[in-house]
Amino acid sequence: MTAPWTYPDFDDHEGVHLFRDAASGLTAVIAIHSTHLGPAAGGTRFWHYADPAESITDALRLSRGMSFKNAMAGLPMGGGKAVIVADSLRTKTPEMLAAFGRAVDSLGGRYITAEDVGMSDADMVAISKETRHVSGLPVAAGHAGGDPGPTTAKGVYLGVRAAIARGLGKADPAGVHVAVQGVGSVGGGLARLLAKDGVRLTLADVDARRAQAMADELGATAVASNEIMTIEADVLSPCALGAVLDERSIAGLRVGIVAGGANNQLATPADADRIHGRGILYAPDYVINAGGIINVALEYLGQGDRAEVEARVARIPERLEQIWAESASTGVPSAVVADRMAMRLIGRG
Ligand code: NAD
Repeated sequence: MTAPWTYPDFDDHEGVHLFRDAASGLTAVIAIHSTHLGPAAGGTRFWHYADPAESITDALRLSRGMSFKNAMAGLPMGGGKAVIVADSLRTKTPEMLAAFGRAVDSLGGRYITAEDVGMSDADMVAISKETRHVSGLPVAAGHAGGDPGPTTAKGVYLGVRAAIARGLGKADPAGVHVAVQGVGSVGGGLARLLAKDGVRLTLADVDARRAQAMADELGATAVASNEIMTIEADVLSPCALGAVLDERSIAGLRVGIVAGGANNQLATPADADRIHGRGILYAPDYVINAGGIINVALEYLGQGDRAEVEARVARIPERLEQIWAESASTGVPSAVVADRMAMRLIGRG
């Protein structure tokens, strides 16, 4: 196997740890990008990869993203990410989760895990039997922690409102047209909050029935998932997959603002220039979608209740404002401004 530091996505990661447990069938990668600000925090992805190199690439890329996200959220946490390599049937067993918990524990708290794609809070409970370096566990009402989705949605909602205020000069978003791609945990939560403000919503999901049900509930319009990227609207909010903003899709956008919760929305670094070049106000994804990590980080740190989580999430618009202001005064794309700020915060600027 090729050494991780030869991978294009290697960015002076502090550690890339490979785990194999024959008895349970666990194969996992834990990448620690930076512990400059604190222990490396980031979720575990349970995913089937075509080849081992893809799983390492994913861990490298996602852990770097977590360094940036945690730093920009003002958290005393570094960036890390774990990947459990699933078989094609995505078989997950208690033995595998236990072995993964021991793998996390072996890093002695340098890496703290939580949910990501394919992992649930029940899985976190299973992992917590082997290690205390885990968050995203079910919590009682009023406490920080638990499912990060609703808190992510709240942060994205505040960010979309800030973008509308900056881009359209409207403090009241009533009547503004927002197109939401993906109405799952984040996109669905966002749509519900925007609907309360009287926002005009167009919704799409690959699960067309899900989009239609939410449209019926909120008095919105549902469109086919292949139409949402070219809808004429004020705002596009990508809340489904990553890499949705590429050369072709950016050329076809008919919105003035892109602000959504999906991770890694820009397919390549050049797409930051492309979206900026089209004069579209872009909210860097890891800044606007930090609500969930704020929630689980405070849970892990034992620093607070829901009110503290809400107070920190309420500061997401301030950070976006700072980025947009610097982008406007320097002409540098907002995504690049955010990366530079984050790099400075993790001592690499
Ligand atoms: P989810 O699985 O609950 O919802 C995703 C929705 O998108 C699903 O309804 C799915 O059917 C739909 N979808 C998938 N592909 C689509 C496509 N091509 N077009 C339209 N719809 C499509 O996931 P989620 O937790 O809401 O996460 C959504 C995005 O936000 C992901 O990129 C995730 O990485 C990111 N994110 C989530 C959180 C969180 O706290 N849940 C935090 C930060 C970032």
